This record gives sequence, structure tokens and C-alpha cells, in this order.
Amino acid sequence: MNVVVCLKQVPGTTEVKIDPETNTLIRQGIENIINPFDAYALEEGIRVRERGEGKVTAISMGPPQAEGALREAISVGVDETVLLSDRAFAGADTWATAYTLAGAIKKLGQSDLIICGRQTLDGDTGQVGPELSEMLEIPFVAYVSKIEEIGEGYMRVQRMVEEGHEVIETTLPAVITVVKEINVPRLPSLRGIARSKSAVIPVWGVQEMEIDPNRVGLSGSFTKVIKIFFPQRACNSEIFQGELENQVECLIGKLRDNGLV
Ligand SMILES: Cc1cc2nc3c(=O)[nH]c(=O)nc-3n(C[C@H](O)[C@H](O)[C@H](O)COP(=O)(O)OP(=O)(O)OC[C@H]3O[C@@H](n4cnc5c(N)ncnc54)[C@H](O)[C@@H]3O)c2cc1C
Repeated sequence: MNVVVCLKQVPGTTEVKIDPETNTLIRQGIENIINPFDAYALEEGIRVRERGEGKVTAISMGPPQAEGALREAISVGVDETVLLSDRAFAGADTWATAYTLAGAIKKLGQSDLIICGRQTLDGDTGQVGPELSEMLEIPFVAYVSKIEEIGEGYMRVQRMVEEGHEVIETTLPAVITVVKEINVPRLPSLRGIARSKSAVIPVWGVQEMEIDPNRVGLSGSFTKVIKIFFPQRACNSEIFQGELENQVECLIGKLRDNGLV
């Protein structure tokens, strides 16, 4: 099985600040981490490889520092990595991101399984996985919580739904997105850390992937960020005083007055 894991490097905090002029994240002074759901994708990719032969390749699209996420992936056991980084990729929306990732996956050659996280900590759309499957014209299963069986040209998985689990069988190649219930990610090994330090990470841009430059970055994006802002949290609180019974009566009166009971 040749597995591709898509990893995104994200700010390691939800306390991000937005530049009001450019509507982009202020990244200075913020530690970057592998998107938490992608750590589960990574672990599952390695586990699939460990079931038999093949290799796991981790790819990430981002600025040069996203290389750090790929070095971490090497330290836990991926075989190959590719960083997709090019000024032309800047300003990509999810569609242009998926187009670029799909271009890289096609260039890698025969891939049997593509694993993404269910969503990211920053963009949070959960769109890239399904868009990837659309572009690669292969099946897609979301919210996978267990890979039950992998056979010749097929895979059976459990996916989380609101009221339990669904069991889905799909042909391969396929794209899946995973939830955190799927595994417990391993820690890096000393050998892995040493390997990650000396590894040479190939960097691919538009030229290397032979993709349409009009379909990447801002020019390939159908959506535009008009404004990013934090919602204002307004909260009117009232503390009831006196005996407990009076407090309860006051509370019930307030709830009735506001049509809540
Ligand atoms: C108009 C527009 C302009 C934007 N401009 C910028 C910009 O200038 N700079 C910027 O940083 N962001 C920009 N973004 C955000 C960018 O589109 C998203 O970061 C990106 O498309 C991924 O979307 P998401 O974070 O919602 O991923 P989701 O769809 O939530 O991710 C699901 C999974 O897909 C995979 N995945 C997602 N992104 C990547 C990636 N980059 N590499 C590898 N795997 C990935 C991961 O496995 C992830 O768990 C812009 C968005 C819009 C709409």
C-alpha cells in the first residue's frame, strides 16, 4: 500500500490575532504545530504501512517553515516527505489548496490511500479532504474512526455518525478523513529524530508539478476573505440574593419572563 498523508502546519493556539489591514493571521511569535487531527492521520498512515509493504509519504502545502511539520513526520516514521511551497500558492482558498495537493499526489504516482485530518484548527472548514477526492476522481469517506480491513483493491472502515458508527466498504484508491478516536499517535523515536534532522525534504512548486498556474493561489481561488473578526461576547448577568427559596423563585420568574420555560 502506498499511503499519502496530508499534513497542515497551524498556529499552536486558538488565541490568534488578525491583521486588520490584510485580513491574514499574524504569525510572528506564534509556535506552529502539526494540525492535531493530522497527527492521527499520520499515525494511521504509518499503521497501514506496517500491515504490509509499501510506503507512507507526508505532504504539506505551506510556507518554508512548514518543513518543520514534515521533519516531525519523519521522526515518527514516514518514509518520504514533500513540501509544496511556492509564492504562487499564497492566498489559496480550500479549492486551490486541494488542486495543489492533488497535483502533488498525481506526481507521486500510484497512491492507494490518501489520509487527511477531519478539519484544521485554523481554517476549520473540513473541505480539503472531500475536494481532493473530487479532483482525483476517487471515493471519499469522512470521519473514519477505524480501519477494519484492507484487501486487494478495497477497504472496510467504520465512520462516526451522530448516533453511532457506519461500516463502509470502498474501493481503493480512496481519500479518507480521520477523527481522533481512530488511534493514539506514537511518540518520535531517537532514531527517527536523528533521521529527521539530516533528511533532505524536496520542495515542489508550480514548475515541478506541471500544474496550471492559474488554478493555484489567489488566482485559482473562487472565494475571497472579506473580513475576519472575533465575535463580540455580550453577557448580562444577575446574581440573586437572599434565601435559597427566594432565589429559586426569582430565577423561575426570570426564565418565564424571557419565555425560556
Ligand atoms: C480567499 C482565501 C484566501 C486565503 N489566503 C490564505 C493565505 O494567504 N495564507 C494562508 O495560510 N491561508 C489562506 N487561506 C486559508 C486556506 O485556504 C486554508 O488554510 C486551506 O485551504 C486549508 O483549509 P482548511 O484549513 O479549512 O483545511 P480543512 O479542509 O479543514 O483541512 C482538512 C484536512 O486537509 C488537509 N490539509 C488542509 N490544508 C492542507 C495543507 N495546506 N497542506 C496539507 N494538507 C492540508 C489536512 O489533512 C487537514 O486536516 C485563505 C482562504 C481563503 C478562502
